[in-house]
Amino acid sequence: MIPVDLGTLLALLAGAGLAAVLGSWAWIDRRDALLVDPRRLRSSFACARCGRIYTRGRAREEAPCPGCGANNGRLRL
Ligand SMILES: [Zn+2]
Repeated sequence: MIPVDLGTLLALLAGAGLAAVLGSWAWIDRRDALLVDPRRLRSSFACARCGRIYTRGRAREEAPCPGCGANNGRLRL
């Protein structure tokens, strides 16, 4: 066995732990991005005339209200 002092061993363990944390972090981040993206493409609108909250499939700046037909701008959150 290769002689390794305690400091080097701890540094190696810390490095491996950090790599594992960063790796799973990146994986979770990517998974969340894939889960969230389809919803992000939807635009939310609040009708100024009747107060209805509605969404439209694609990102767009304006959409008519399904309740009263008034044209409303996209909600910015
Ligand atoms: Zn409306």
